[in-house]
Amino acid sequence: MLKMRGVAKSFTTDTVKTQALQPFDLDIQQGEFVAVVGPSGSGKTTFLNIAGLLEEHSQGQYLLDNQDTTGLSDKHKSSLRNQKIGFIFQSFNLIPELNLFDNVEMPLRYRDFSAKERTERVLNALEQVGLAGRKSHYPQQLSGGQQQRVAIARALAGSPSFLLADEPTGNLDSKMADGIMALLKDINKQGTSILMVTHDMEQAQQAGRIVEIRDGNLSEQKHAISA
Ligand code: ATP
Repeated sequence: MLKMRGVAKSFTTDTVKTQALQPFDLDIQQGEFVAVVGPSGSGKTTFLNIAGLLEEHSQGQYLLDNQDTTGLSDKHKSSLRNQKIGFIFQSFNLIPELNLFDNVEMPLRYRDFSAKERTERVLNALEQVGLAGRKSHYPQQLSGGQQQRVAIARALAGSPSFLLADEPTGNLDSKMADGIMALLKDINKQGTSILMVTHDMEQAQQAGRIVEIRDGNLSEQKHAISA
């Protein structure tokens, strides 16, 4: 599903070149739950941004569902991103002026779905995260954990190949964090692949695989247990 060969990333400003990621190979199969761990500044977000087609790799080849993403136009890349990838962020990134239904529907408006199908998808996704009864509420009327559930519904509504989660429980207390982890594992069991950056090793251990990044070097940790 996700195949990276010799992928690397450097950032160059007028005076400085930062090698954020050294060349690496990585394969992630459909249905996997992969945690990405590593110290601050090691390259985790850069890696996630490349996987999510938000950032172009500067070297190597990245195939997503057998399609080579290297050098694609921005337009092509954003349509591939909308189709294949759902994003979940630490800060939820919901639109405060929109109710839950409209928040979840927003990315579907950039896809080729009829209004009827959009409605069905939004209601199903809200149901899946346990918030079907709250569709007319606004984000500020919800707890942090519930807001993250809405963000997960928004990410799922388009049936992505995989979810990219950047510290999805970073703003939540431990009880809410446990609830979000349980939901992500459940979603994964139903077939959606997940790539999740986390600082929390206990959480990482709940994934099927752990990838570690240190000083821009990616390596596999062998002791992950099955989800
Ligand atoms: P954290 O856990 O603190 O979020 P991280 O592991 O996600 O850190 P990255 O944000 O990927 O680390 O950063 C990796 C390296 O790349 C750092 O040295 C950072 O300064 C550099 N970097 C990231 N983005 C840019 C950019 N747009 N321009 C220049 N350098 C960048």
